[in-house]
Amino acid sequence: MSSFGGVPLDVASMGVDYLISSANKCIQGVPGFGFVIARREILEHTRGQARSLSLDLFDQWQTMETHPGKWRFTSPTHVVRAFAQALGELAVEGGIPARHKRYGDNQRILVAGMRDLGFAPLLPAALQSPIITAFHSPDRPTWDFKRFYAALKEKGFVIYPGKVTQCETFRIGNIGDVQAGDMHRLLEAMAAVLHEIGIE
Ligand SMILES: *Cc1c(COP(=O)(O)O)cnc(C)c1O
Repeated sequence: MSSFGGVPLDVASMGVDYLISSANKCIQGVPGFGFVIARREILEHTRGQARSLSLDLFDQWQTMETHPGKWRFTSPTHVVRAFAQALGELAVEGGIPARHKRYGDNQRILVAGMRDLGFAPLLPAALQSPIITAFHSPDRPTWDFKRFYAALKEKGFVIYPGKVTQCETFRIGNIGDVQAGDMHRLLEAMAAVLHEIGIE
């Protein structure tokens, strides 16, 4: 879901039946639709099974097959156009290997800079993904994630608002049209915010 287009995946060798992703993840399109790459013979067994009218993948596929590329309901035209543009930009960047390298470089800059600011990542480097990184929240009574989040947003950086782990963590993503310079600017903003809210 989150890594398609940003991490090399050999779908054939993985024996994947369905790969589901969104226009607005590593392809870097704008939000508006999701897509599915399916093993045809598995998808064919789902005729008539959908419990929702609009989210009927089989019917959507059939309509696209029988009416060259037609969407069942109003086509999200602008979003599809943006997706085509995004695919072109992915090719210009050098394809998935180049994008994967950029995301990985972003992530390493982030972790090194966060370590300098006193933050430790939740996972060891070998398990970290280039997409998003969880950091332990500082073990300080003054730590207030909401305040930290709002102060960073004030400086133009929106980080993930939630955590997924049982531990006290927060997450920072680095996908999108984000370059090394942006990661350095984020780290500078972070240092300023920590100073402002009295956590250094
Ligand atoms: C992004 C994401 C979603 C939401 O998809 P959108 O098309 O962005 O609304 C759901 N699940 C996972 C795991 C995701 O990464």
